[in-house]
Amino acid sequence: MFLLSNCTECGDCLSKCVYIEIDGEEAKKEFRNLIDGKPSPVISQCVSCMACDEICLEKANPFSLIVKRQEEQNEIDRFGKAKQMMEDAYTIPSKIEKRGEGGPVIGLCIYTGTPDLFEGVLFENATFFMGGEYFCGIGFYHIGAESPVKEKARAIVEGVTRVGAKDVVFYHDDCYTFFKVTAPEFGLEVPFRPISWPEFLYRRMKDLKGRIRPIHRKVAYQRPCASRYTPEKDHYVDEIFHLIGAEKPSRSYEGVTALCCGGAVVPRDWELADRIKHQNLHDASEAGAEIMVTLCPMCFASLKKRAAQHNLKILPLSQLCRVALEEVKI
Ligand code: SF4
Ligand code: SF4
Repeated sequence: MFLLSNCTECGDCLSKCVYIEIDGEEAKKEFRNLIDGKPSPVISQCVSCMACDEICLEKANPFSLIVKRQEEQNEIDRFGKAKQMMEDAYTIPSKIEKRGEGGPVIGLCIYTGTPDLFEGVLFENATFFMGGEYFCGIGFYHIGAESPVKEKARAIVEGVTRVGAKDVVFYHDDCYTFFKVTAPEFGLEVPFRPISWPEFLYRRMKDLKGRIRPIHRKVAYQRPCASRYTPEKDHYVDEIFHLIGAEKPSRSYEGVTALCCGGAVVPRDWELADRIKHQNLHDASEAGAEIMVTLCPMCFASLKKRAAQHNLKILPLSQLCRVALEEVKI
C-alpha cells in the first residue's frame, strides 16, 4: 500500500530505477503526476521489478502506487496471454502429498518442480501441497493489476490454513511474501508461521552439518523481486553459503541493485527482457562466478537457457544444497 504521508517526493524511486531513463527533476515531476492520478510515461515504462519499494528510504511503497495507476489505465489489456495464464493458474487441481510423519509442511505454489528437485534427505517425511487453491497470484503485479490478488487473498489464506500446519514452508518467494507481508497488509490474519525457503534450507543444512562436503565454488545469487518486501531473510542465503563453502563474488548487481531475471519483462518487451538476462548473467560471470543459484522458480526458468552462453551453471538453491550433501553432481 502506498503511504502518501511517508513520501517526501524526492523522486529517488524513479531516478534510481535502472529500467526508466529519467533524471532527478523529471522524476520528481512524474512522481507528483502519479500521486495526482495524471498521465505519466512511467505507467507504461515500469517493468514491475519492485525495486523502488526497497530504494525508497521512507518506506512509502511507490511500486504500489504505480500498480494502482497501471490498473486504472487498464495496462493489463496489453498482456492478454499472461493474464489468461494467471487466471488459469487458480484452476490448477490442488493436492496434498504426505510422505511421512513429523516432516516439514511445504507449499509448492503451482509448481511441482523437476522430478528430483524435492528428493533426498532435505525433504524426508515432508508433506507437500500445491495447486490453484494455494496460488497467491502475486504475479498479477507484474501485469499491472493488484485487485485480483486482493479479491482472492482471504480464500488463499483459508486454503493454506486448512492444510493444518503451525509452521508452513513456502518454496516460492512470492508465496512467502504474500503470507508474510501482503495478506497482513490486506487486514487478514495468517494463523500459521510462514517460513521462507532459505530459512528452511539453512535449518535443515545445519542439522545435516556432518554430511556436508564443502563445494569450494564461486556462486552468484539471483535475488528475486519478491525479496524486495522480505529482505530480512537474505542472511539465511549467506549462512547457507558459509555452511557449504560457497563464495559469493562481489557483483555490480547485488542486493538493492540486483537485476530482475527478465521473466516479468517478457510480456512487456521481449528484447528488453533478453538484454536484462544477458546483462545479469554477464555481470555474474565477469565477477568470477561459476554457478548462479536461484531462489525463485521463475528466475530459474527465465535464466536457464542463457546461462550456458556465459559459462555459468544454473541451479535452484535446494539443488546447490544437495550438491554439498553429495546427492547431486554438477
Ligand atoms: S516514494 Fe519514496 S523514493 Fe519515491 S518520491 Fe516518495 S519518498 Fe521519494
Ligand atoms: S518497479 Fe522497477 S521498473 Fe518499475 S519504477 Fe520501480 S524500480 Fe522502476
